[in-house]
Amino acid sequence: MNPGYLQTPIAYLKGVGPNRAATLQSELGIQVFQDLLHFFPHRYIDRTTFYKVNQLQRNTAEVQLIGKIVHLKTVEQKRGTRLVATFVDDTGEMELVWFRGQKWIRENLKLNVPYVIFGRTNWFNGSFSMPHPDMELLADHEKATAMGMQPIYPSTEKLSNAGLTNRAIGKLMKQLFSEAKGDFPETLSEDMLFQLKLMPRAAALLSIHFPKDQTLLAKAQFRLKFEELFFIQLQLITKNRLHKQKIKGFPFHQVGQLFSDFYENHLPFDLTNAQKRVIKEIRADLGSNAQMNRLLQGDVGSGKTIVAVMAMLLALDNGFQACLMAPTEILANQHYQGISELLEDTGVTCALLTGSVKKSARKPIHESLQEGGLHILVGTHALLEDKVKFKNLGLAIIDEQHRFGVAQRSKLWHKNEMPPHILVMTATPIPRTLAMSLYGDLDISVIDELPPGRKSIKTVHRYDTNRLKVFRFIREEIQKGRQVYVVYPLIQESEALDYKDLMDGYESIVREFPQPQYQISIVHGQMKPQDKDYEMERFVKGKTQIMVATTVIEVGVNVPNASVMVIESAERFGLSQLHQLRGRVGRGADQSYCILMTGHKLSNEAKTRLETMVRTNDGFEIAEVDLKLRGPGDIMGTQQSGIMNLKIADIVKDNDILKTARYHAQLLLREDPLLERPGHLNIRHAYAQLVKYKNIWNYIS
Ligand code: ADP
Ligand code: MG
Repeated sequence: MNPGYLQTPIAYLKGVGPNRAATLQSELGIQVFQDLLHFFPHRYIDRTTFYKVNQLQRNTAEVQLIGKIVHLKTVEQKRGTRLVATFVDDTGEMELVWFRGQKWIRENLKLNVPYVIFGRTNWFNGSFSMPHPDMELLADHEKATAMGMQPIYPSTEKLSNAGLTNRAIGKLMKQLFSEAKGDFPETLSEDMLFQLKLMPRAAALLSIHFPKDQTLLAKAQFRLKFEELFFIQLQLITKNRLHKQKIKGFPFHQVGQLFSDFYENHLPFDLTNAQKRVIKEIRADLGSNAQMNRLLQGDVGSGKTIVAVMAMLLALDNGFQACLMAPTEILANQHYQGISELLEDTGVTCALLTGSVKKSARKPIHESLQEGGLHILVGTHALLEDKVKFKNLGLAIIDEQHRFGVAQRSKLWHKNEMPPHILVMTATPIPRTLAMSLYGDLDISVIDELPPGRKSIKTVHRYDTNRLKVFRFIREEIQKGRQVYVVYPLIQESEALDYKDLMDGYESIVREFPQPQYQISIVHGQMKPQDKDYEMERFVKGKTQIMVATTVIEVGVNVPNASVMVIESAERFGLSQLHQLRGRVGRGADQSYCILMTGHKLSNEAKTRLETMVRTNDGFEIAEVDLKLRGPGDIMGTQQSGIMNLKIADIVKDNDILKTARYHAQLLLREDPLLERPGHLNIRHAYAQLVKYKNIWNYIS
């Protein structure tokens, strides 16, 4: 076959033409022959089974029957008419109904001749009916090649209105296969086909569009899913290597005095093994000549801060400055305090820069930053301002990156001629499944171990009707000297209502926990920043025992004495948010609790979320469940990654295939990075095509 053949515009396929081509393109993105070939059925129906009318059940989906039409009538209805046929077999009768295309049906339908009919049934007033059935004379049906599994292609209203029904798509597919003589080039190596027992590509394409039976279909699906994921991995891994080659970074060759001194004399605790491993990974990156671009994932409380500090010391040891940027003032403050404490008596200078730092205080910061006297700058977005100039920024650390846009990150890059190394810290775990397909071989470090001695948080689900018991429990905890969070949802769309809920909740808590015995803080988004900070401060200092808040406290706040997290209307929160909120407690030595309050009416999905929270504290496990519930669409970075455009594989369901594909992509590139070996010719051609005809995704950088 001519290699360009599959790139022929779809309008040139017999049976398409310019109008249908336009519809195929706008509805399905099908531009060339190959796009049609890769337009896969999303399900199949088994046309090997026939039902009798008396076997129909109210929940059978699509059924196939043999019988005759004995009567046809037009029924007036509110708007227009419907055509109703009485269909009988030897066990009973049912109605077939048409709303559209009645004229054609009336003129062409034959009475008292056996038909094969197929479709969905409705149950109404004690009998079944089938709207708009697929129909075929039994005689024709028998003539046609026995159709085992019938493919069903994704469809839209516009497609069917343009005559591009499932049947029409099937016809086009047949046309394509016959023109191409089914000769579609192999894209994988002989070795891989053999080792993995994969179906050859041409056979797989045939079976996916025209499956003979379940077994062949399953093999075809496996082969094509594997291929799809394999080439994605190949691209990601290659892209990552290119990135490493191209973008030079400052090499931090030495582990110097500051780092060693800190390690030996200032560490307040023993590092966990996970922390040690991650620091090693970062050190290796910084010591190479390429710019580091690493994501540091670690569950809330896993101890990311100390890792950040040690990375910054490496920068300082090599004569560079470092900065740490946090998404909120509260967080920036906490980081600043924490870091200053850790670095006490080390001679390292550290300053805080946020929106509320006064002008007069800023000036000396700007100056010492520019002349190099200031080593570490901690702050918020304020760091990005043009006035903030470093003498030589070597490392930028970003906490909780999902709050920062790409543009902001690139601003950091341009603070220097050469981009600083970047370390992004996040407590939002990206499921391993997703991370792998998103980042390929990109650099992710994971702290998957909590510091020793942490008690895992006890999580329970309570109905609103049990509120009094919950209050009693809160009272007991406060008696022990603990502090309590009560969090309300605040969702943009129903802001006013949510705000009212929060205020009502606050008032009822004030009633239950009267002053002066109890002091209560409240923090929400409509307060002025100073007021918020003041209230936060009171809680942090232990002057108030209860903090009533919306989700503004979600990120990062550290009050080790807080031991209870009550989440109101918990069914309205997403899993990752629930997990983040829960992470606000369990930071001290005491047993901590998370209480998820809900009404009695819960959707299945909400139930799953609550059960998951009660069952596990493991952020990664929670992220996996979240991914399964919501799909990858909402998770950071997936939009640009191309995994949303998968044609046949499913990132969640086909996780095992993904792992295999990734393994083989790595193996291949290790053995033959440029795909030069004769045995790898197929792969090289396919890869070149892919790169040529598809935009490579601009994924996270
Ligand atoms: P996060 O990863 O959520 O940012 P932090 O860095 O704030 O976590 O650490 C959470 C708490 O655990 C802090 O109080 C910190 O001092 C403590 N911590 C961190 N690492 C260890 C360790 N290896 N051993 C004991 N405590 C630790
Ligand atoms: Mg943190």
